[in-house]
Amino acid sequence: MNLQCRTELASAYKAGSQIARILTEEWCTRELYCAACASNRLSPARANTPAIDFVCPECEQSFQLKSLKTWNPRKIPDAAYDSMVRAIRADKTPNLLVLQYSPDWLVLNLLLIPRMFFSESTLEKRTPLSSRARRAGWVGCNILLGQIPEDGKITMVRNSSPTPESQVRDEFSRVRRLAEVPPSLRGWTVDVLNAIRGLGKSQFSLRELYECESPLKVLHPRNRNVRPKIRQQLQILRDLGLIEFTTPGNYALRS
Ligand SMILES: [Zn+2]
Repeated sequence: MNLQCRTELASAYKAGSQIARILTEEWCTRELYCAACASNRLSPARANTPAIDFVCPECEQSFQLKSLKTWNPRKIPDAAYDSMVRAIRADKTPNLLVLQYSPDWLVLNLLLIPRMFFSESTLEKRTPLSSRARRAGWVGCNILLGQIPEDGKITMVRNSSPTPESQVRDEFSRVRRLAEVPPSLRGWTVDVLNAIRGLGKSQFSLRELYECESPLKVLHPRNRNVRPKIRQQLQILRDLGLIEFTTPGNYALRS
């Protein structure tokens, strides 16, 4: 994988955001492969597909690219809040590629967040743009990376060092069955998996997980029965092959 963007392609452009878009999109078209199947390339999406930048020509997974100069490990600014909520409820969010480039246009970091990890818990509503802004009243959103478990943050490039393709595909494959959970329930599944990851251990008990009741209540204020919900999600995570039940009330993460 050649991590250098072709800066000569940007000579006709002045705006920084436009240059970043041109160079990083070209880089993805030239160097990127599909994490969801064996395809060794991604195709640029058709022009009339908002929020989708690339499509895999073999498995038809769609990808959105966010290119940034600075990397905020807590949140990533994304599209309009309302359209993102609609996309989540309709199960139409693309996979997200977050690319950080260096001042001399080298790809430093590339993170892939599989589409199944986006839920309303991962969105933060931003304050509306002021009345003086060109798009006054527009409300954007941030993706809160802290609400996404490690399982949903697949490193494709770290510190300009590409992860082996087989490892990226294995990591994607491990979580792909989350797509089988209906979107109305999947937010809970991801939140409980994130709570499990937050415990920081591979073996855990139901009692330990119950201690995460309060943050889960904050994420789902309308649900009064958080403990039964946690137990239901543990069964779903077991059926998806992400955890196993060891002894009654005790569980283990599966790698
Ligand atoms: Zn594919």
